[in-house]
Amino acid sequence: MAPLPSRPAPTRIAALVAVLTAVAAGAIALGVARDWLIAGGFAAAGVVACGAAIAWRLLAPVAPPPVRSIDWHLARAIACTGEDPVAVTDRGGRLVCANDAFVALFPDLPTPPSLPLGETAIARMAEAARIAWRDGFARAEGVDGLYDVTLVRAGDEADMLVWRLARPDARGAFEALRRMVAGPIGDRLGRAGAMAALVAHDGTVIAADPGLTRRALGEGNGTLEGRDLAEFVTGDGRGMLRLAREGDRGPPLRFLEIPFLDAADAPLLVLLLDDLGAAALPGSGGAGPDHVRAFVGLMPFGMALVDRDGRFLQMNAAFIRAAGADAKALPVYPGDLVVREDKTAVADAIRRFAAGATHSADMAVRLKDFPEEPVALTIAGARGLGDAAVLLSLKNNSEETRLKREVAQATKMQAVGQLAGGVAHDFNNILTAILGHCDLMLMRHAPGDSDYDDIQQIRTNSNRAASLTRQLLAFSRQQTLRPQILQLPDVVSEVSTLLKRLMGETVRLDVSHGRGLGPVRADPGQMEQVVVNLAVNARDAMLSANPAGGGTLTIQTRAVAADEVRAMGNEILPVADYTALSVSDTGTGIPPDVLPKIFEPFFTTKETGKGTGLGLSTVYGIVKQSGGWIFADSRPGKGATFTIYLPVHAAGAAPARLPPPKPAPRATTPWGQGTILLVEDEDMVRAVAERALTRQGYSVLTAENGEAALELIEASPRPDILVSDVVMPMMDGPTMVRRVRERYPDLPVLFMSGYAEEQLRRSIDLDNVSFLPKPFSVQQLAEAVAAMQPAAPLPDRSG
Ligand code: ADP
Repeated sequence: MAPLPSRPAPTRIAALVAVLTAVAAGAIALGVARDWLIAGGFAAAGVVACGAAIAWRLLAPVAPPPVRSIDWHLARAIACTGEDPVAVTDRGGRLVCANDAFVALFPDLPTPPSLPLGETAIARMAEAARIAWRDGFARAEGVDGLYDVTLVRAGDEADMLVWRLARPDARGAFEALRRMVAGPIGDRLGRAGAMAALVAHDGTVIAADPGLTRRALGEGNGTLEGRDLAEFVTGDGRGMLRLAREGDRGPPLRFLEIPFLDAADAPLLVLLLDDLGAAALPGSGGAGPDHVRAFVGLMPFGMALVDRDGRFLQMNAAFIRAAGADAKALPVYPGDLVVREDKTAVADAIRRFAAGATHSADMAVRLKDFPEEPVALTIAGARGLGDAAVLLSLKNNSEETRLKREVAQATKMQAVGQLAGGVAHDFNNILTAILGHCDLMLMRHAPGDSDYDDIQQIRTNSNRAASLTRQLLAFSRQQTLRPQILQLPDVVSEVSTLLKRLMGETVRLDVSHGRGLGPVRADPGQMEQVVVNLAVNARDAMLSANPAGGGTLTIQTRAVAADEVRAMGNEILPVADYTALSVSDTGTGIPPDVLPKIFEPFFTTKETGKGTGLGLSTVYGIVKQSGGWIFADSRPGKGATFTIYLPVHAAGAAPARLPPPKPAPRATTPWGQGTILLVEDEDMVRAVAERALTRQGYSVLTAENGEAALELIEASPRPDILVSDVVMPMMDGPTMVRRVRERYPDLPVLFMSGYAEEQLRRSIDLDNVSFLPKPFSVQQLAEAVAAMQPAAPLPDRSG
């Protein structure tokens, strides 16, 4: 936008006026008195007088502009510039203004919320109006399955409500259909024996063609709109339907119900096909194929006509699109559109309906171009529609397909997550045993021993393996998070030094933060991991795009309000307030066929040894476990953007569930005493834990499952501490503990598990229990058990 030319400041103008006045006064005085002294005096007086006048003008109170009444012509003209119907109502609930689109839709000018829609729709709009009067804004989506109604309180005194009834694209089609049904085309079709009505999902007629109205009610007897269509139809119990007014002698009708919109409560187009009526009705001869063609052509959903020989007579544009047909080389037979296996079924059905089968039928067919997604093909016989013998309708379900694919993807991620979590759990058991034995061996070897370094090596590598399992647990959302209320910019600034180092000299780091960011609840360490993982991928992508280096890594945070989410129309992201974090790069971008797989664990396009395929899956797991959403967006060659939405933490919500991390381990662990009952089904873990605890000074009783533990409890004196695995075959840890607590209600319990603490706490409703995540070292086990003992002074281990 070009900058506006700057205007001189008022004080500068004032000074200029004062100087000019002074010069003029002085000049006049000089001219009259011919005396420089007098002229100077006049000039000074001019300055003073002018200055005083200007000062008064500047300082005197400015009268408020007169209150102007609303110019409704102007308001209406503005409202008419949009395509959505807009209406304004006042405090008294009167309609004070409506635009052309509203008038076209509701020619009788009803006052919202009392529009001629279903009762539920009216109730929803009335509720939205109540909210808008209170909050200034309200929105009701999918009203009557069609309208997204937005309400804004407006006006000088906030005493008006502006109603906008937006019709998202797919739904806008409804209007065309409604006009067509109620207008001359509907009339002509009705005469040809194809009557049509638009019916709300509760059966209320929204629009009916004049022919149907005439036949159902009798000439000049009002309208069907707002009435239940079922009232006017009777059945003979054998599947034959007739109009009630025409009685048993009236011609039988075939009903064809076409759901042409996706919403569950959206209206249906109901066609009532009268086989005999076309011939019987006067004037039907005038309804030639042209009208039928116009009707089919205008239909907002896929519709086609087929002749007696099963050949296409006409397909409308929506049908061609939905069928994935090539508009330049249209198929001749409907069977040509479907996969080979479905050809016969389609041809048979068409033959049956062409021969006069009553009722319409829905069949699932697989289109040749999208064989994996069956679509619904509605078939009905047609009479009185010229050469057309069969009517086909096909719903374009590409949107549905996309959603299904997304759901399938999410389900797959869930399944892979469970698998990964299971693997990690088993691995943690093995690692516990390996690490435990290393620890026990190290206790027998002093540094410098021939074996000491080798054992250390085993330990280091086991710890690396443990960190891999942690990533797997992160992906399967089973790791222990320690969430805090935090601001995302703090997370970014925490890692910015590290990022600069990671990016190197040639990559520019561009960080910017939005205003009014809400706090989020997440684990700060894990969020840092998220930013770093995304940044490392971005760096790799930029290096591949430009091996010489260079590019820009952009990190942004911004507040995304619920309204904005609603406007985005993203079916996946629930409407709520979020704080978003996006990481964009100028790298290679992600090809469309790779994009759906990037969050899967072990998916990598990097050469062997360079990528583990766990970076993004870790990010995904952390974001999901924090209640957030992540989206990747990319155009090959144009870089990639990853955006994370974390819900804004509502003040006053439950505080973080987990306690802060435990302090660093003490250098010495108190020497133990008393009896520990150790329950663990994995022999290797039980063995190592038993040795560690015995070494620590405890007497240890072991059981290899819950049942054995209960028997031991019966047979022995009360143990001091119960240490148990959580997941065991037959009787699990928590069940066993509940039974033990019946006898010893305050027995301290330590659960060891390869699953996440947070998840376990959620599923274990027991008091006075502690958790020790696997894999653990001998030292960690000793500390965890020591922490459960009463704080009685105990002899120190070294003592
Ligand atoms: P890894 O980095 O070990 O390959 P990730 O799970 O982090 O594993 O990433 C998986 C794959 O996603 C990468 O191999 C790469 O193909 C793709 N990818 C991730 N981030 C980007 C990015 N910023 N630009 C291009 N491709 C990316």
